[in-house]
Amino acid sequence: MSEPQYKRVLLKISGEALAGDAGRGLDFGVIGSVCQAVKQAISMGVQVGIVVGGGNFWRGVKDGGGRMERTRADHMGMLATTLNCLALADVLEQMGVEVRVQTAIEMRAFAEPYIRSKAIRHLEKGRVVIFGCGTGNPFFSTDTAAVLRAAEIDADVILLAKNIDGVYSADPNKDPTAVKYDSITYDDVLAQHLQVMDSTATSLSMDNKIPVILFALKDPQNIIRVLEGEKIGTIVKE
Ligand code: UDP
Repeated sequence: MSEPQYKRVLLKISGEALAGDAGRGLDFGVIGSVCQAVKQAISMGVQVGIVVGGGNFWRGVKDGGGRMERTRADHMGMLATTLNCLALADVLEQMGVEVRVQTAIEMRAFAEPYIRSKAIRHLEKGRVVIFGCGTGNPFFSTDTAAVLRAAEIDADVILLAKNIDGVYSADPNKDPTAVKYDSITYDDVLAQHLQVMDSTATSLSMDNKIPVILFALKDPQNIIRVLEGEKIGTIVKE
């Protein structure tokens, strides 16, 4: 095992990635292999914070759009992220990994409230911290929450584990001439409207100079490959 390239990382996992082939709900086979990689990262001495999405249960605009008031639909999305947090925490604990869930909206019977200093202390003690409820505000995404928490905990990098293996010049499923970038600037992502994160999240990472590495979660060992410095996926930086 080579030396990790990063000391503290923020891993963003989309809700959809936890659903496996079903696309909805939880696939414990997938969750198990993701948690195994997280456990391996901890044993390498890397501090790991996780932000998880909720799209495998509910996305405010997509699922509530036109039928619900946006803010309330987003509240449901934030609750959906908490389901994923609790599932990840449980599987990690079963593997003997110490973990704390901190939510942006207080639900003290389930989780700690988000407190930056406490989160950092947990990370320093080798505990995984899973951040729930996104930013705690409607009209935001969990990608933005990932950048926000990464900035707050002073993470070296954001590991954006997605259902796609990198950033492409166009949608590779629709355009056979689409090329994958190894590296791209925040400016180009914004100017070309590339599908990395939403523009709020991209701007926040640009303003705070936090590099983002996008890669496929399909093989969760990719998390370890990135930590060891292997050039997979696409890095978004200045
Ligand atoms: N959400 C929100 N504020 C946040 C983060 C998330 O209101 O700060 C809601 C929003 O409705 C969003 C849903 O939670 O659609 C699930 O998050 P997201 O779509 O980012 O999940 P992912 O696509 O990563 O699974």
